[in-house]
Amino acid sequence: MKTNLIWFRNDLRIMDNPALEKACEDKDASVIGLYIATPQQWKAHDMSARQACFIHDRLIQLQDELDALNIPLLFHSCDSFTDCVNVIVDLCKEYSVNQIFYNNQYEYNERERDYLLKGKLSPDIECLEFDGNLFTAPLTILNSQKQMYKIFTPFRNAFLDQFVQNIPRIYNQPKAIKKTKIKTHKIPEFDYAKQDYEFFNPNTQKALQKLEEFCAEKVEDYADKRNIPSLDHTSQLSAYLALGVLSVRQCFHYLTQEHPHFWENQKSGAFTWFNELIWREFYQHLIVAHPYLCKHKPFINWTDHVKWKNNKDHFEQWKAGNTGYPIIDAAMRQLNQTGWMHNRLRMIIASFLVKDLLIDWRWGEQYFMSQLTDGDLAANNGGWQWAASTGTDSTPYFRIFNPTTQGKRFDPKGEFIRQWIPELAKVPDKFIHEPQLWSEKKGNITEYPQPIVTHDIAKKKL
Ligand code: FAD
Repeated sequence: MKTNLIWFRNDLRIMDNPALEKACEDKDASVIGLYIATPQQWKAHDMSARQACFIHDRLIQLQDELDALNIPLLFHSCDSFTDCVNVIVDLCKEYSVNQIFYNNQYEYNERERDYLLKGKLSPDIECLEFDGNLFTAPLTILNSQKQMYKIFTPFRNAFLDQFVQNIPRIYNQPKAIKKTKIKTHKIPEFDYAKQDYEFFNPNTQKALQKLEEFCAEKVEDYADKRNIPSLDHTSQLSAYLALGVLSVRQCFHYLTQEHPHFWENQKSGAFTWFNELIWREFYQHLIVAHPYLCKHKPFINWTDHVKWKNNKDHFEQWKAGNTGYPIIDAAMRQLNQTGWMHNRLRMIIASFLVKDLLIDWRWGEQYFMSQLTDGDLAANNGGWQWAASTGTDSTPYFRIFNPTTQGKRFDPKGEFIRQWIPELAKVPDKFIHEPQLWSEKKGNITEYPQPIVTHDIAKKKL
């Protein structure tokens, strides 16, 4: 009898999972599931405690879902990727595994690990790889010189040309297979700090319901409202996508169900949202084409020679949300308290750290990973490099967001600011973006700090 091993990584779902569907295709084969936690590696790469907790809680659900399909989910914890490979080699011997199925991960170290595994397995064991977490495999959307695009818009256009000709299907959820005698154990706690996360319920039905509701109720206005942080008008699906609780194909499927003709209007909310999913795709493709990005090297080489000021006090004030710029501080407090931040705010606070405080973008990138539930190397690196003008598509280095005008534009009445900065509750709307003027003019006292830098001076120093 054949035995197939399905190795779950960032694809923690049973629906629309090509590796799982294929592993279960042969009705005569028994199927074993595997997840390997690597807390030491996670710590070394600043994965947040929130994300580790979310993975843990999600695995408990996944184990139940697989159990109903008669697929045991085995769990191991390893210190290094080498140990991880050894565990798999041993499991293959123990259970006489014939084939290993998995969905690709694209980060450099993960690809090295898979390469190592293939070299260590006995030649009669086959690894079957799938691109289950993307619409298209990396390095399949190339320019006329057969290279990865350096700019998003032409990548997007080429992507759309291919996509309409070959709209990806949803992979079937497998039917229950024959029961095996393998016993599973409850997923243990990880060797990791504990931290609550918000917004992301690890239950599959809850995740699907959120996607469905977003497509039915919010996506239509997404183009108009997505930049207003107080409105909560984005999908908040990012951690589900980062860890593969949901797939981008499922997103597309629900979107077309609700808005079958969304293609026809590129200005529509639905198309604008789909465009964000293509940004995600772009950054994933980019780290495969330019693996040095995973080592936190800038995309634009010369920017590695920038002399950063790296003032540690400023960095601490930025992290804590005490810079004296209300929109920056509200955003950082949202991140620290919930593990999530609105996209517009991610752009503003990143620009502030790099261009107003002249702090190396990698400090911000690392801090984000240590806080986010949706931390994802490709998207995070792409976002930071975009903001720092060191990456693809970046605005020129001298373009800088003005935190006060950004605040006035995207949070005109300060609703978002007041939600996160109680010290400013009493400040009138007129002064909410510059509360120090209110204190000075009226002799009012707040416990809110003075700006740690003057934006107009910082701008001239660039
Ligand atoms: P929606 O607006 O509903 O978008 C839907 C999905 O599209 C998101 O869930 C995400 O998977 C994808 N997406 C949206 N915008 C982007 C983008 N610019 N780049 C790549 N994918 C995108 N996203 C992460 O998932 N993980 C990160 O670690 C991360 N770090 C970022 C750091 C910076 C400095 C910046 C500027 C952006 C970062 N992003 C990151 C992208 C984006 O901010 C988040 O994906 C988004 O805010 C998540 O909220 P949402 O699910 O409501 O997004």
